Order: sequence, then structure tokens, then C-alpha cells
Amino acid sequence: MKRSCDAFKCDTAVQPGRFLCLAHWRMVPLPTQRTINARYRACRTNFGFLSDLVYLQACVDAIDGIARSEYGAGHQAGQGSYHRLLRGAKKKGQS
Ligand SMILES: [Zn+2]
Repeated sequence: MKRSCDAFKCDTAVQPGRFLCLAHWRMVPLPTQRTINARYRACRTNFGFLSDLVYLQACVDAIDGIARSEYGAGHQAGQGSYHRLLRGAKKKGQS
């Protein structure tokens, strides 16, 4: 399956299982990188990471952080697929 980078407005192709292209991954703070890698490995079975709050929150933080540094503080965050997944996972956790 062909994937592209999840950073805002980036369509660089990435390897399956990769979240961002290398240029954008390097912009993610190290603690966030570690969280994403650790949760991804821990929740890999059945794509469990797609409903893991810690993983999704870290992805959203990474995407928003990159967007803010590339497009400025006024960037409208909260529009990507990870933002949707995070909202869905939070809703599920409440019920
Ligand atoms: Zn990218």
C-alpha cells in the first residue's frame, strides 16, 4: 500500500508503516518521536494504534507542531485524519 507523509500539505511518498517523510519526522521533538514509535510497536496488532489515545495524541501534536513551524501560529489545526481518529477514540472512551 502506498502512503504519503501525514504532515499538513505534504504528499511525499513514505514507506508502509511510516508516519512522516524523513524531513518532517526530523522536525518532531524527540520525546514525541519516542512515544509514537513505542505506542506503534505496542499496538501494532489489528491496527490497535489507530484507537490508542496516547499514540493518536502524539501524532496530532507532531502534525500540529510541524504545521505551526511551517505555516505560522495561526495555522488552523485539527483538520487531518489523525485529528478525526483522536476525536473518535476519545468519544469511544467516554461511552
Ligand atoms: Zn512530509
